[in-house]
Amino acid sequence: MAAAEDNLSLVVHGAGVIRLENRSVPEPGRNEVLIKMHSVGICGSDVHFWQHGRIGDFVLRKPMVSGHEASGAVIKVGSDVTHLRTGDRVAIEPGVPRENDNFCKTGRYNLSPTIFFCSAPPDDGCLCRYYVHKANFCHKLPEGVSYEEAALIEPLSVGIHACRRAGVTLGSNVLICGAGPIGLLCLLVAKFMGAAQVLITDLYPERLLAAKEMGADITVQAKRETPQEMADIVSGHLSGMPDITIECTGAEACIQTAIYATRSGGTVALVGLGSPMVNIPIVNASSREVDIKGIFRYCNTWPVAISLVASGRLNVRSLVTHRFSLEDSLQAFETTHQGHGIKVMIRCDKDDPL
Ligand code: NAD
Ligand code: ZN
Repeated sequence: MAAAEDNLSLVVHGAGVIRLENRSVPEPGRNEVLIKMHSVGICGSDVHFWQHGRIGDFVLRKPMVSGHEASGAVIKVGSDVTHLRTGDRVAIEPGVPRENDNFCKTGRYNLSPTIFFCSAPPDDGCLCRYYVHKANFCHKLPEGVSYEEAALIEPLSVGIHACRRAGVTLGSNVLICGAGPIGLLCLLVAKFMGAAQVLITDLYPERLLAAKEMGADITVQAKRETPQEMADIVSGHLSGMPDITIECTGAEACIQTAIYATRSGGTVALVGLGSPMVNIPIVNASSREVDIKGIFRYCNTWPVAISLVASGRLNVRSLVTHRFSLEDSLQAFETTHQGHGIKVMIRCDKDDPL
């Protein structure tokens, strides 16, 4: 009985307060499955809730289990579930619409205002040993896809959604601002979708080195340039202005650079989330018909992403630079907070230790 009650979970209580707690093992409802969690990646937002207790309008008002980049094995199946069985390995899609509203009907379910989302307050995440999720948002993994790769499907999905909305296609020249995990995954997807050249910027040479290893054609270290100077540097390297800029920092200077750098008639995709109010050169964008598109998470990406990873032609594995057990997850959060490495992965399954 003691073992069955062991559901060690990483719980954020408020700004600066996070701890491991033993919660009860949940029972799956009719359309749900109980998952024995295996791998959970740490996202910047998990760390942000720990540090600040809020992100914009998402405010922690009660304790919340962290984590939303996740995979595991189905160990119990609700009575109405037909497509999954005990033993199936799954990647978890953390955003589950609660109602069949117009956003769902038109396929853009990520925009549904009442959506459940793991580790966005008040909804609990899945950084724990046992977790229940709607079966329709658990995607079965083919044999060749590892649990860690499956956990990376979540940030990869952000890259797919951003590149789709930005319209990356054969021969596109693309600027990506920021070589964190999200920028790097946008890079992988953009190259895969046929971008001719991808130029990526960051403040840190280590991140640019990782970008180079992951296929960036050109890397530029941002120093003290003004946004206009940065735009000139970018067009100099690409022999012309990029068709598309994918902004993955949230920094005001980069959003400004994104607009100045993008060719007339091109597209800026805003992935980075920083200050809620920023100054941007709107007349420049408007008078050159530069389209500015918001990106909010993703929709309809898991099946595509799993196929891509399974094909072996899109390699996300090199993103993982650090691994910790669930027991050491506070150290894992500290590592991400300090900005070490790229993706920190937590192993939740004590039967498959590191
Ligand atoms: P990260 O902090 O690891 O990466 C951001 C990178 O930008 C860092 O490497 C940093 O050095 C670099 N950077 C900062 N200022 C810069 C500048 N002036 N010039 C060049 N580079 C600069 O974060 P991440 O996990 O890669 O996420 C990137 C952004 O995407 C974050 O703002 C995050 O909140 C956001 N995000 C948005 C969505 C969405 O749905 N829109 C989803 C996931 C993440
Ligand atoms: Zn995330």
